[in-house]
Amino acid sequence: MDSQRVMEQEPMDRHTTFRIGGPADHFLQPRDAGELQRIIDICEREQVPWFIMGNGSNLLVSDRGYRGVVIQLYRNMAQISIEGCRMTAQAGAPLTALSKRAMDASLSGLEFAGGIPGTLGGAVAMNAGAYGGEMKDVLEEVRVLDRSGRQSSLQADQLEMGYRTSVIKTEGYIVLEAVLKLHPGDAGMIRDTMQDLAKRRASKQPLEYPSAGSTFKRPEGYFAGKLIMDAGLKGYRSGDAQVSEKHCGFVINRGHATGADVAAVMSHVKKKVREQFQVELEPEVRFLGDFSGIYDER
Ligand SMILES: Cc1cc2nc3c(=O)[nH]c(=O)nc-3n(C[C@H](O)[C@H](O)[C@H](O)COP(=O)(O)OP(=O)(O)OC[C@H]3O[C@@H](n4cnc5c(N)ncnc54)[C@H](O)[C@@H]3O)c2cc1C
Repeated sequence: MDSQRVMEQEPMDRHTTFRIGGPADHFLQPRDAGELQRIIDICEREQVPWFIMGNGSNLLVSDRGYRGVVIQLYRNMAQISIEGCRMTAQAGAPLTALSKRAMDASLSGLEFAGGIPGTLGGAVAMNAGAYGGEMKDVLEEVRVLDRSGRQSSLQADQLEMGYRTSVIKTEGYIVLEAVLKLHPGDAGMIRDTMQDLAKRRASKQPLEYPSAGSTFKRPEGYFAGKLIMDAGLKGYRSGDAQVSEKHCGFVINRGHATGADVAAVMSHVKKKVREQFQVELEPEVRFLGDFSGIYDER
């Protein structure tokens, strides 16, 4: 890896859809799996913490940044190919690009993913889903790298996909590539469905502000956004972080929100919802960096 491509003290607000986050000590965008593997080997040997990210669309990064190496797979390692009903794509490919390619090839199954701003890697790790579809429905095989640098292939029944979780997340694997099994469809109908979902998204979600999507997971039997609204927290604000007035399930950045602002809103929301409804909200956004003394779990 040539050292000029290692960015030092890279501000993470440039790489997250929240537009929040202090500097990562080192930041790299590997060109291929070999380079990625070499970076991880060095980090492991030198005992430097490392973190894999995609488009940062589900991340809240600390204002203090990250003491270690952030490795981003987004638009690099992003090849997509189609053979029959199977699409093979690398982890850094944006989901929006995958859905569009599927539509152009008259393949159905990825319509749900058209408006999710993540990468394939992030979507597999999180089992991203929307409007009744989820990654679990289309994944056939995932090629991963484990923390010791060994590559292997996991078949659909080994992925342990659940609500916003997978074996990738629980075991800390890195997604390199995945094979998606789609089915033949009509390009016009696929386009109509995608346009309809995009309209529904734009009418319900605060897409005009930076955010990381749904802040909390859906608690069983409830909707997080409804609980938050019923707790009287619509528009609740700390600094520039605010519970969206359009959709209470989203915390938005109204301009200059910090990680501490978002964490303060999340802590307050969690406490109020627990007090009023005895329901424990669990963050869907992933925290990166030091939030000690900032995000209060209780
Ligand atoms: C406006 C908006 C709307 C959204 N709507 C939805 C929605 O409808 N449904 C939904 O599910 N989500 C939604 N999200 C959240 C987010 O887009 C998804 O969770 C997405 O899958 C995250 O992908 P990413 O590449 O941005 O991952 P990141 O945010 O960069 O990372 C998320 C997690 O995935 C891990 N990860 C990333 N890449 C890899 C890899 N190659 N291998 C292993 N682990 C990896 C990271 O370590 C981290 O733990 C939305 C977000 C926004 C901002």
